[in-house]
Amino acid sequence: MSALGQKPGIHAPIIAPQTGSAPAPGIPTAHPLAAILDALHRGERFLVCSHTRPDGDAVGSMLALGMVIEQMGKSADLVTADRIPLQYWQLPGVDAIHTGLRIRGPYDAAILLECDSLERTRLRGLEELFLVNIDHHITGLEFAHLNWIDRSAASVGEMVYQLARAAGVAITPQMAQCLYTTILTDTGGFCYGNVRESTFALARELVEIGADPIAIAQEVYYSAPASKLLLLGAALRRLKCEGRLAWLWVTHQDTQRTCATEEDCEGIVNVALGMAGVDTVVFLRELPEGGIRLSLRSKGRLNVAAIAARLGGGGHQNAAGCTLEGPLPRALKEILAELRGAMANPKGKRSHQ
Ligand code: 5GP
Ligand code: MN
Repeated sequence: MSALGQKPGIHAPIIAPQTGSAPAPGIPTAHPLAAILDALHRGERFLVCSHTRPDGDAVGSMLALGMVIEQMGKSADLVTADRIPLQYWQLPGVDAIHTGLRIRGPYDAAILLECDSLERTRLRGLEELFLVNIDHHITGLEFAHLNWIDRSAASVGEMVYQLARAAGVAITPQMAQCLYTTILTDTGGFCYGNVRESTFALARELVEIGADPIAIAQEVYYSAPASKLLLLGAALRRLKCEGRLAWLWVTHQDTQRTCATEEDCEGIVNVALGMAGVDTVVFLRELPEGGIRLSLRSKGRLNVAAIAARLGGGGHQNAAGCTLEGPLPRALKEILAELRGAMANPKGKRSHQ
């Protein structure tokens, strides 16, 4: 599909793509960013949203994109289905994010960040809108009217930065704070395989503009509530290893006993991945509404996104997730069979992407 093309089965764009409208300087007309900028220039009122259980990239990208749109003299409503995790409450403008499940327009376009489908937002009412998809997951899908998927971007925040530059918008210290957070969190503190020289160049530029790396790291990594550590303790007591594979889980009862929230589960999987000799980890948790949420991580060449995608989820090569049906022992059995198979056959004869 071309950047301006339309997917069958979705509604006609409110902003009809214009032929012959002036491209942004330095952006080839065929680049999806050109079409997205065109849509931003011609619309007035935008919706910006991201995936359910938003992470640092989702929150930081939404906030920064909202600021870009406002600097362009337009309005942006920021909406998520789930509340913003505690560690991002200090980000500038975070109060402007509404939590709700139903979208009430009208909007000239809805911009979905980090999503592979409308369902990933858990928001209702998007179907009628002109949809713009900005994503960097390897499992990203062209589900929208305009799709910009850059699988080499360290975070979607990096793409929002490019959009801001292409739009000729000044990167403010507030924007820099949000964008730096997206990079820090999506690279796991500059540790994951998506880190490049250019990642540090952008981080440096954002710090020069006014992002405070120490304050952000304090908020993100050193401000956990006690409940998070207690939940981590419960998970670590159940840690199991089998060669290079490790797994651990928390039950709904653990979450209640430790007074933990959903967001307290974040990062538990990475603690297990920190063990010498382990290169693949799955963390499972019982969801209050039923179902089992899985977080998959690898530090080798195993593509956990391909495994998650086969099970209805998605993500990145070394970090992915999905939701399986319960009960927990059944879900554990299913994912262990998948992982054992993939680890025994890393070349991917099992139709890995
Ligand atoms: P986490 O394990 O931290 O929840 O997610 C790891 C990565 O996988 C993130 O980039 C996240 O966006 C992606 N991811 C997690 N769950 C899902 C899912 O159900 N669907 C898709 N498409 N991506 C997911
Ligand atoms: Mn991301």
